[in-house]
Parts: sequence; C-alpha cells; structure tokens
Amino acid sequence: MSRHNSRNIIEYADAVIVGAGASGLAAAIELRMNDPSLSVVIIEKNDVPARKIRATGNGRCNITNRNAEGYTEIMKFFTSIGLVTRTYDNGLVYPYSESAADAAELLISRAEELGARIITDAEVTSACASGDSRFATSFELKTADGRGSRTITSEYLILACGGKAGPMFGTTGDGYGIARSFGHSIVTPVPVLTPVECREWGSRDENDAVCLAGTRTRGTVALIKNTDDAGCSVDGAELFMETGEIQFTKYGLSGICIFNMTRHMRYDRSKGESLEDFAVRTDLFPDGDITEFLRDRQKHAFSGEKTADVLRTVLKANIAGYVLKKACGEACDENLAEKEVGDLTDADILAISHQVHGLTFHPERLKGWKEAQATSGGVSLDELDPVTGGSLITPGLFITGELADRDYMCGGYNLSNAWLTGIGAAHAILTSDSHK
Ligand SMILES: Cc1cc2nc3c(=O)[nH]c(=O)nc-3n(C[C@H](O)[C@H](O)[C@H](O)COP(=O)(O)OP(=O)(O)OC[C@H]3O[C@@H](n4cnc5c(N)ncnc54)[C@H](O)[C@@H]3O)c2cc1C
Repeated sequence: MSRHNSRNIIEYADAVIVGAGASGLAAAIELRMNDPSLSVVIIEKNDVPARKIRATGNGRCNITNRNAEGYTEIMKFFTSIGLVTRTYDNGLVYPYSESAADAAELLISRAEELGARIITDAEVTSACASGDSRFATSFELKTADGRGSRTITSEYLILACGGKAGPMFGTTGDGYGIARSFGHSIVTPVPVLTPVECREWGSRDENDAVCLAGTRTRGTVALIKNTDDAGCSVDGAELFMETGEIQFTKYGLSGICIFNMTRHMRYDRSKGESLEDFAVRTDLFPDGDITEFLRDRQKHAFSGEKTADVLRTVLKANIAGYVLKKACGEACDENLAEKEVGDLTDADILAISHQVHGLTFHPERLKGWKEAQATSGGVSLDELDPVTGGSLITPGLFITGELADRDYMCGGYNLSNAWLTGIGAAHAILTSDSHK
C-alpha cells in the first residue's frame, strides 16, 4: 500500500534492501523465491542496478571458487536462477558466457520476475529503528532522489551497500554511517587488492625502476615487515608469499599476487608504524638457481657471450638490464651487462643472484579506493551473527557483503562472500519467528 504526493512518497515493505549489488540481489531473489507473499524493495542509488558486478573479473565476473566457503550453496543458488557456469582447473568459476554484464542482467531480471521491486536513482540518506520489544521493531528509511524524498518503513532491513572500493560503482562508504546509527562499530576501512606505488620509481637516475614499466613476469613476491608489533626494528618477518604474475607499472607493482599481498599490509599509526615499514622482495627466477645457471653457462658459453645476453634467456630484456645495473653496485663492477659471462667472478655471480632472487622494492603508497577491488575493515564481526549477518544490537537488521569486516584474496572469494551473506540474511528472515 502506498500513498503518493509530489514531494514525499511513504510506503511499506516487509523487507527493504539498501543496494542492488551482489549481496542485495542475492537476498532479494532468495526471499521472493521462497516466499512470494513477502514484499521486497531494493533501493539503489545508481541509475542502473549491479553496476559493480558488470565490471568484475575484467568484464568476465569470477563469480565464485570451488574452494570458497559456501561453494555448494552458492552453486545451488546460481542453478536455481538458471546461470550456466564453467569452472577452470584452478577452481575459478565464471558464467559460461564469461560476460559479467549478462550475469548482472540475469540477476536483475530474476529479482524483478520474482516480484522484488528495484527503485533506482534513490540514495538512502538515513535509517532508524522504532519499537521496543524484540518483534515490534520496524525500520524507517529516508531516501533522496531528483524527484524529492521517500520514506519507507519495513520489518526487516538489509544493508547491502558495499564498502568503499570502486566508488565509481556507487560504493562510497554510506553503509558505515547508517550502521553506526544503529550502534555498530566500524573497523577502519582500508583499500585492498590494489596496486602499490614504490620508492624505486621516479628517482630519475640509472636505478629508476620506471624502465620496468609495462612488463609482466612470473615471480615470487614476499612481504617483509621490518618492525614488530611494538614498532621496534626487527630482522624482517615474512608476512606473505605467493608466486604468480608480477606486473611492473609506471609507478610500482601490480598483478594478482601483489593485490593479494596488500591484504597483509596493515599497520598501526598509533604505534608509529607506516607503510615504509614494509619491503617487497621478489624472486624473478623462482623455478631455478641463477648461480648454478650462470656457472653452467660459463662452462658452455659461446665465445664472447655477454652477461646481459645470457640473463636475457631467463628474464625479459629490461628486467635483466635493471637487475644487472643494481648488481653492479654490490659487485663493484661498472658494467656487468657488457662483461663476458666467462669472466664473471664469484662476487659478480653472488651480486647478480642477490638481485635476481631478492630484488627488493619499498612501498610508499597503496593505490586508493578507485583502483582497489575490495575493502578491508567495516562493520565489526563481533556485533554480527556469523552465519546470517544479523545484527546482535538491532533485531531485524542484517549486514551483508563487503560492508562487514571481511575481505578475501582474488579468485572469486569476495563475490562468494556477497552471495553467501545475502542468501544467509534471506534465510534468517524466512525462518524468523516473526515471519512464521
Ligand atoms: C573492478 C572490480 C572487480 C572485481 N572483480 C571481482 C571478481 O571477479 N570476483 C570477486 O569475487 N570479486 C570481485 N570484486 C569484488 C566484488 O565485486 C565485491 O566484493 C562485491 O560486489 C561486494 O558485494 P556487495 O553486495 O557488498 O556490494 P556491491 O556489489 O558493491 O553493491 C553495493 C550497492 O549498493 C549501492 N549503494 C551504496 N550506497 C547506497 C545508498 N546510500 N543508497 C542506495 N544504494 C547504495 C551501490 O550503488 C551498489 O550498487 C571486484 C571489485 C571491483 C571493484
């Protein structure tokens, strides 16, 4: 039942969902599929729903992973809405068409066909609860849009408005203020799964790593922290290690293993820590031993073969050139690149090995929210039911997806969390005493 006037629309729904993204759409579908008598409204600030889903997986949408928590339940959900999927050997699952836009359209049309109402171009500006007994609580939301304001009351409220990563998709952290207004605490959100700017870029001398820009290589990345929990300098604890594709950009490091590494770059300003406490050590020849390789080539070198030419058989030319420049300092030799491989001394080989197996970069800045794919931090998990995302402070309120303090590595795990928590909230509503 709704009452309209030109300035303010007042209406009621059984469940209101803020955000037509991954977890919001999953919750709406699950609610209406299991109980068509429930009125479900999704409020979305963008002019189209599911804007972020369309951009996921480089437009291919890595929807889940065979190893993700709740994988079976997630796949059951996608089967129920008719999404055909394909799974790669590494466990990554995509829509069969590998089109994120098609997956987004399917979710939207299923939600609408099932009778959920999606209101777009409407931004929720505030929400509050009324009622004092456990089952009398109802919610009142205010939204603003170009046409005026809207007040919606509901029995259940699902906050599915995401974190702060990718603000161009509508996720600008609005959910934190709304959750706070219900008494929830927020673990400081920081951007993760993002490229890293490093000090080695921009020195404009021969050691400027900008010569590496645009190169991709397979390697191992290790994150070292040079301070302990009390902020004291230590030998360098290894916090993270992963082998994969390293991308050198015009400002620093990128690629999946770098993205995953950023989840471990937490530091505490109050203890005097900063990003500068970290170092990123790379192994650019993770499948072999460059010392053995060079010694072997010394035995079998072609006449006059230069070190740079030999190194280029295992590293890309600009990476080999950079590594040799860095090794020159340690080996006290001005031009290792031009030196014949047969003339390399033990000290030369050791210096090259240090660089190939331990080329180190120093982070200065994480690329910000615009380039981040996920948010670390958010609504404290201590205040939420671990399965349903139900608020332990305000009955009837649910926090789903990236808005809660959960973040995962690349590979379909963040979307998995969104689908699973959306479905979990819906099931909690469907089985709650007040609903039955
Ligand atoms: C470029 C990119 C690529 C990614 N690729 C992958 C991938 O391939 N696989 C993977 O697992 N994860 C991927 N992720 C992460 C994944 O997309 C998110 O973790 C997931 O979408 C979070 O779901 P959610 O439901 O919490 O929020 P979202 O899907 O972000 O949806 C939140 C919605 O709420 C709306 N909203 C916000 N505030 C308000 C308000 N005040 N009023 C009304 N509406 C509001 C927003 O406009 C948005 O539509 C990627 C992220 C990015 C940025």
